[in-house]
Amino acid sequence: MKLTDIFQVTERTFSFEFFPPRDEIAAVDLGINIGQLIRLNPSFVSVTYGAGGSTRSRTFDLVDFLKNRVGLNTVAHYTCVGNTRSKTLRDLRTLRKLGLQNFMLLRGDPQAGSRYGFIPCPGGFSNATELISYARKHIDDCCIGGGAYPEVHPESLNAEVDMQNLKKKVDAGCDFLITQFFFDNERYFDFVERARKAGIKCRIIPGIIPLTKYTQLERFVNLSRASIPAAFLDRLERYRHNPEAIYNAGMDFAIRQCRDLLMLGAPGLHFYTLNKSRATVEIYQTLMAR
Ligand SMILES: Cc1cc2nc3c(=O)[nH]c(=O)nc-3n(C[C@H](O)[C@H](O)[C@H](O)COP(=O)(O)OP(=O)(O)OC[C@H]3O[C@@H](n4cnc5c(N)ncnc54)[C@H](O)[C@@H]3O)c2cc1C
Repeated sequence: MKLTDIFQVTERTFSFEFFPPRDEIAAVDLGINIGQLIRLNPSFVSVTYGAGGSTRSRTFDLVDFLKNRVGLNTVAHYTCVGNTRSKTLRDLRTLRKLGLQNFMLLRGDPQAGSRYGFIPCPGGFSNATELISYARKHIDDCCIGGGAYPEVHPESLNAEVDMQNLKKKVDAGCDFLITQFFFDNERYFDFVERARKAGIKCRIIPGIIPLTKYTQLERFVNLSRASIPAAFLDRLERYRHNPEAIYNAGMDFAIRQCRDLLMLGAPGLHFYTLNKSRATVEIYQTLMAR
C-alpha cells in the first residue's frame, strides 16, 4: 500500500526505521527486535541504504523480506551515491518488481572516513531533487519521501536557502518528508511553520531517536547537529557514569517529547530504532496507555 493511501485514512502514522544487518548474528538479533516491534502494528517500516551505497543488496533483501514475507508496508531508502541514472532506473525497477511502492529518495553521504564530501557520480545526480524528479518521471505508481532538516542541513548556507531547496525537492515529486532527529520540539514546529509559509503542503513526519546511552550523545549531536535542551543535557551529565539512570532519563525525555509532538499536531512519529526494540516499545506503550 502506498503511504499516500495510508495518509488518506489516518491522521497519524507510527513507523520504524531499520538498517540492513551486517552479518548473520546481527540478522538474528534484528529478527527478534522486529518481532517485538511488529506487535505494535506500525503504519510502515523503512530500511536505510548504507552510506556510500554500501548495503545495496542487503537493503533490497531486507525490504523484500519485510514486504513480502512479513507483510509490512515497507519503504526502501535509496541514494544518489555511486549511482548513474541508468543504474538507478534498473534498481528502482527491481524494487518495483518486488512489489515496493514506497521510496525514501536521498542524496546520501559518502562512507564514514571518506576525506571528501558528496561527489556526484558521473552520469548520476547532484542532489535528492534531481533523483526524485527522475524517479517521478520513470517509475509508475509510487510514493516518494524525502529528508528534511529542522536544524538546517549541515552543508546549507543558511535556513532560508535550505528551505528554498526543500521546496524545490518537494515540487520535484515528494509525497511526504521525514525529518532528521531532533530533541527540541520548538525547532520542529518552527520548521513546519516555515515550510508551510514556503508553500510545502505535504506531511512532515518527525524523526525520533531515543537516547539511551551516554556514549550516544556525542555521536547523535555530531550526526545531526541537534541542539539538546539544557535541562536534559544537565541530567545526562549528572548521570554519565550510571547507565541505568541515563536510560531512564533518556526514556523520560523521549516520552515527553513524543507526547508533546502528538498533542501539538505532529502527523505521527518515525522512530530511528537502531535495530533495537526495547526503548521504542516502551515509549509507544506509554503513549498509548494514556
Ligand atoms: C529521514 C532520513 C533518512 C535518511 N536515510 C539515509 C539512508 O538510508 N542512507 C544514507 O546514506 N543517508 C540517509 N540519510 C542522510 C542523508 O543522505 C544526508 O543527510 C545527506 O547529506 C542529505 O541527503 P538529502 O536527501 O536530504 O539531500 P538533499 O535534499 O539533496 O540536500 C543536500 C544539500 O543539497 C541542497 N539541495 C537540495 N536540493 C537542491 C537543489 N535543487 N539545488 C541546490 N541545492 C540543493 C540542500 O539544501 C542540502 O544542503 C537520511 C536522512 C534523513 C533525514
